[in-house]
Amino acid sequence: MARKNFKSPCVFLDRDGTLIHDNNYLSSPEQVKLYSYSAAAINKLHKAGFKVIVTTNQSGIARGKFALKTLSLIHKRFFSLLKEQGSKIDGLYFCPHIDEDKCNCRKPKIGMVLQAAREHNIDLKNSFVVGDILRDYMTGVNMGGKGILLLSGHGKKQVKLLKKEKTKPFAICRNLLTAANLIIKTMTGDDFA
Ligand SMILES: [Zn+2]
Repeated sequence: MARKNFKSPCVFLDRDGTLIHDNNYLSSPEQVKLYSYSAAAINKLHKAGFKVIVTTNQSGIARGKFALKTLSLIHKRFFSLLKEQGSKIDGLYFCPHIDEDKCNCRKPKIGMVLQAAREHNIDLKNSFVVGDILRDYMTGVNMGGKGILLLSGHGKKQVKLLKKEKTKPFAICRNLLTAANLIIKTMTGDDFA
């Protein structure tokens, strides 16, 4: 029975280096390649009761590396690759800015997760942000939830920068699949690993 006022927990996923192979300013739909485990990880999280939403910094737009129209084609390709594997996400938000724009959406700022929380009725305190960049786990901390740093993508280099930071990730995980297992175990007590 649907509960009124029930807010869902959510796992916010980074895109490049988390769900798809990082290609430094990936700029065409043909370059989109899912990691082998991405669809499985999303489906596990859904089954455990999480919403799964992608939040991605796409400063390549502000830097003139690709157009908004191209980004939308890249995302169309991304959705279709997920669909081929029997998976889908609940939403996708991107920030097209650079730091100098002083926007509210570029991670580690929480504009994208706040917007998603309003539009998808999400309980941010019981939600996670997962990605391969320090900005990702910091977004989780900044929203009052948890952040996980992955070692896929840029993660192995990023993890070396952690000691300079005041805040720490909830966990450091090998990749999205190990992170999904940990999240499910943490939130439900079930061991899906
Ligand atoms: Zn922005």
